Amino acid sequence: MNTRSLLGDAANRAATYLEGLPSRSVAPGADAVAALVHFDRPLPEHPRDPSLVLSELDEYGSPGTGASAGGRYFGFVIGATLPAALAANMLATSWDQNAGLVVISPTTAKLESIALRWLLDALHLPPACAAGFVTGATMANFTCLAAARHTLLQRAGWDVEAQGLFGAPPLNVIVGDEVHVTVLKALAMLGLGRARVTRVPADAQGRMRAELLPPLDDRTILCLQAGNVNTGDVDPIAELIPRARAAGAWVHVDGAFGLWAAAAPKRAALVAGVENADSWALDAHKWLNVPYDSGVAICRDRDALRGATAVTAAYLVQGAEREPCEYTPELSRRARGVDVWAALSSLGRSGVAEMIERNCRQATRFATGLREAGYEILSDVVLNQVLVSFGDDETTRRVIAGIQSDGTCWCGGTVWHGRTAMRISVSSWATTDDDVELSLAAMIRVASEVHAVR
Ligand SMILES: *Cc1c(COP(=O)(O)O)cnc(C)c1O
Repeated sequence: MNTRSLLGDAANRAATYLEGLPSRSVAPGADAVAALVHFDRPLPEHPRDPSLVLSELDEYGSPGTGASAGGRYFGFVIGATLPAALAANMLATSWDQNAGLVVISPTTAKLESIALRWLLDALHLPPACAAGFVTGATMANFTCLAAARHTLLQRAGWDVEAQGLFGAPPLNVIVGDEVHVTVLKALAMLGLGRARVTRVPADAQGRMRAELLPPLDDRTILCLQAGNVNTGDVDPIAELIPRARAAGAWVHVDGAFGLWAAAAPKRAALVAGVENADSWALDAHKWLNVPYDSGVAICRDRDALRGATAVTAAYLVQGAEREPCEYTPELSRRARGVDVWAALSSLGRSGVAEMIERNCRQATRFATGLREAGYEILSDVVLNQVLVSFGDDETTRRVIAGIQSDGTCWCGGTVWHGRTAMRISVSSWATTDDDVELSLAAMIRVASEVHAVR
């Protein structure tokens, strides 16, 4: 089979997969998961026809996937993929460009610069910010915190990139009690220590309590959060950022999904003042709905980011333009910014705002519908996240398991203020209002069945 028919076959299979999502169980069936043993075979001794490789992948692989590319997946915080971003990703994968250097790929370097400019515009962040396209918010947190470490230690007369942390002046890191685990992981990888942080207690919505903030100085990194994974709520950034910056501290905002509120006029008040921070971690594979993996590390000060991530070597030809590899931990990497460019190019400013606003409205509809059915909503719904209890912890756990095996939709569990809860995260362009009604009906049906047998 030639390359043209092979790729045509792949595109057809992809379209068939996506078209089938609305009518299949959102969780893969037990049979499909069991059938994955098909892949447990030794390394083939000899070459095989690529079309057989593809058909095997589709026949046994496709059914074993979770339908997170469809409209009724509400687990974790998972976006689907916009058609334009998916198609662009397929084409850009065919280009197989190493996006690290302009000289290797003028097209991807150009598109990443444009994507960055558009992102800053859509999110109302300062237009002079620098950024790197990384794998996700974990690496965005890591990269931004490396820039913070670089800058604060440089001001203290210490070159951390050259000397490491041995003998360096200590830095203080302040986080909220509801900090995302990946910020702590990033701090651990940076030698700043997971357990060495000062944790500020949180309020009922998971927001840092501003009145309990310890004193700040110019050796302090303050990590704020825009978008709590359980409640969707945001730390009091309008109050804390000016205080921190006045003290000379570095303010980092983990805005993996919550920062997108800035792009929707009706939700932007939630993150008012966020543009005054020093750095921001953003996911694109969550709420912008581009393919995995895709995140953005954004930094107000170009030199801070470059100071932490730039490399020089004689063979890495560098010109006058923005060299992508000077802003990311990676040297070689795929052109993530092309997917971001395609998503923004197809949605435009109003399309992004509409998608964010629609998902928020859909989250509120879930909360209203479940409350009317007699179930307890455990936090204020301010964005796209809903927490619901169906009774005691055991009952809620059974309802979650029942919903997952029912297959109409998929939601996961969490523990919120000591109580087991089901989380509903509405983060997909593909979620229609009909998907919400169908899913709500399924949740209520499963919950009443569980209650009937208890
Ligand atoms: C999802 C999330 C992360 C981690 O992002 P990845 O893309 O999974 O690396 C970090 N912080 C917050 C608030 C998140 O929601």
